[in-house]
Amino acid sequence: MNRRAVLKYAGLSAATAAIPEPMISFTAAQSGAPANTESGVTAFNQVGYLPGKEKISSVSTPGTGALSFQVVRNPVPGAPPDAGQQPVFHGNLTAAVLDQASGDPVALADFSQVTTPGRYRLVVQGRSSEPFSISKSAYSDALTLSMRAFYGQRCGCTVDLGGGYSHPPCHLNGAYHATSGRQGVVANHGGWHDAGDYGRYVVNSGISTGTLLWAWELFAEALKNLSLNIPESGGKVPDYLAEIRWNIEWMLSLQDQDGGAWHKQTSEKFCAFIMPQQDNLVSYIIGTGAAPYKSTCATADLAAVAAIAARCYSTYDSAFSQRCLSAARRAWTWAVAHPNVPFSNPKGVVTGGYDDKDCSDEILWASAELWRTTGDNQYEQSFLAGVDALPPETAIWSPAWPGVAPLAYWTYALAERHGSEKLKSRIYRKTAEAAQQLISRRSSSGYGNTLAPEDYIWGSNSVAANQSLLLLIANHFQPNPQTFEAALGNLHYLLGRNCFGVSWVTHVGTNPFQHPHHRPSGADNIDAPWPGLMSGGPNARPSDSAANTLPKLPPMRMWMDDQRAYSLNEVAINWNAPLVFLLAAAHQSGL
Ligand SMILES: [Zn+2]
Repeated sequence: MNRRAVLKYAGLSAATAAIPEPMISFTAAQSGAPANTESGVTAFNQVGYLPGKEKISSVSTPGTGALSFQVVRNPVPGAPPDAGQQPVFHGNLTAAVLDQASGDPVALADFSQVTTPGRYRLVVQGRSSEPFSISKSAYSDALTLSMRAFYGQRCGCTVDLGGGYSHPPCHLNGAYHATSGRQGVVANHGGWHDAGDYGRYVVNSGISTGTLLWAWELFAEALKNLSLNIPESGGKVPDYLAEIRWNIEWMLSLQDQDGGAWHKQTSEKFCAFIMPQQDNLVSYIIGTGAAPYKSTCATADLAAVAAIAARCYSTYDSAFSQRCLSAARRAWTWAVAHPNVPFSNPKGVVTGGYDDKDCSDEILWASAELWRTTGDNQYEQSFLAGVDALPPETAIWSPAWPGVAPLAYWTYALAERHGSEKLKSRIYRKTAEAAQQLISRRSSSGYGNTLAPEDYIWGSNSVAANQSLLLLIANHFQPNPQTFEAALGNLHYLLGRNCFGVSWVTHVGTNPFQHPHHRPSGADNIDAPWPGLMSGGPNARPSDSAANTLPKLPPMRMWMDDQRAYSLNEVAINWNAPLVFLLAAAHQSGL
């Protein structure tokens, strides 16, 4: 756990720290205070709820005494003025309890009994909320937008999300960096821009792409008909897998002939806040600076992802599936032969490091995925050999880019082929224990999330989403309504049930945040940001100068909607990926 806590966002920290702030100009609106900080926020999932599931709003600073609330139907356009004002539900707020994470006294309005599909508003203390839905397909649009955001992150091709959110091909000029052991120019091979910057990093692509492919394997019913309106739409591969392939192709292009993978492809420093096609810094393939030039963590992550891809694409494109499997085998062989080649930024390179010194969990994950895909004994033996050093009892928690051991264990347990039943039992037991711990935390959270105070770190919203991933895996092993509701609880938190009453996904909900640290959003001359992107969220220990203007506040309050505040409000592919996973689970449960 400590390793994760220490390392978790070290790479993103480095990824964004060097932004030349004087080059950023701000309007008054762009440097605004946190949204909705006034007292009396009625916070709930602004998108809505599934009919049969829990529906609880958190009302901050509600005053004293018993207070009632109502749920009313939202009038349809053209209806008489008083139409819909007839309450469909009356309830009483619970007594207010101090919420430690926010410092707010919070009362709860439970309207889970409202199950009839429709549009509603909450009325608390005479104040009517914005409307929300109760619907089996409540999360359909949010799922589409958050997945389509990956198309918006594409590098090397024309991107057009509609509404003016577009750019021509970018970063067409690539080259081998002196640290790569090679020289010469390289063509653009695609991939997704990592975050608010335009770098591409194999390690962070690893967990992001792996998470998305896992969502496909677990929630295909929700994803197979997803219409993303991307250039590949209408082809033989479902849109969801076609979008992911864009990034896999880039990851494969970072594999050298000997099987190893270079760590990243970025410029030496970050560009200004400009559109990607205006960034003329050379996009370098960057290595470790000495033989063997490739890094272990990147190579093992590539092996894991390519092994999953071999499974996911086999029924749609067997040639691509075979290419992925071959790449996975060669990457695994390289990683096992070079288990301790770390990466850190060479001199003169200041883009994201994603420098993880311990790659044993990445090798564990690669071995487990390759065994699940092929059944080959050598991969299972490699996996089992790593168990004692990283036992499931200490390794299973929510995953993050430097800590992928939980993915290794879960894929072993999810495999249809026979493995060690004894080890699988340990995996089930520990996963259930971890889920129970999260469920317990939630019961003491005024806003219904599963975050502990120490979880409010850089990218805490992705910690919440990844804790939901853990809960959903636990629920897959042993279905339990309480476990599933806890997973949804973090979705409610992310989409509005938080102390700011803000949706942390752009263009989703009635009060979404507006100013992500995201270069296209800042540089495109459109007021609203690019759609479907999740903010990193509150960070009790922010590390940028804009965020440091905040006074010391309870951890959930340590956030501001400010483009400059990269340690509070950046976006990243490894944050959107568990959001998509969670939305896919939620959407599938309504089908
Ligand atoms: Zn690009």
